[in-house]
Amino acid sequence: EGKTVIIAIDGSDIAKYALDWYVKNVHRPTDNIILVHAVELNEILHNQQWYSSPYTFDKDVLFTLLEDEKRKITHKLEEFALLLKTRQLAGSVKSAHASSPGEGIVKAAIENHASLIVTGTRGLGSIRRTFLGSVSDYILHHSPVPVIVCH
Ligand code: ATP
Ligand code: MG
Ligand code: MG
Repeated sequence: EGKTVIIAIDGSDIAKYALDWYVKNVHRPTDNIILVHAVELNEILHNQQWYSSPYTFDKDVLFTLLEDEKRKITHKLEEFALLLKTRQLAGSVKSAHASSPGEGIVKAAIENHASLIVTGTRGLGSIRRTFLGSVSDYILHHSPVPVIVCH
């Protein structure tokens, strides 16, 4: 029986690099890869559209915006599935929903009985004050299983 491995994917090149590093150095053919993307509510709420017309926040406008966001998320998940396909890797892609992306990843690891989490040091964020981004930092502090942070 192989182990289940969670790879945290946010769309950044570093996360892709983390996937490739894991595949090259750690992966065994029997291992079960799950790419997990945590949907970041902050990003959705900070989308310009939400602020552009505060007086048109009726339910139809809200519904349209949420449908747009769902479409974008579906599109992202399809893109992540391609990462596995182009590398000829068996595995699956899942989205996680929690109060923070780090929490979503850790929850996914527990729920799927994973024995390893793989992340990048940084991601899509633009602030570069520290070596670790907030998501990889959270995962390192809260994961019940070993974490590989690639750089
Ligand atoms: P910050 O988000 O704190 O501004 P950052 O974007 O540079 O900084 P992180 O978000 O911590 O850094 O990204 C580090 C790693 O965490 C990424 O390479 C990726 O593996 C994982 N990660 C980040 N965001 C997500 C997410 N939404 N879903 C899944 N994995 C994520
Ligand atoms: Mg962030
Ligand atoms: Mg980030």
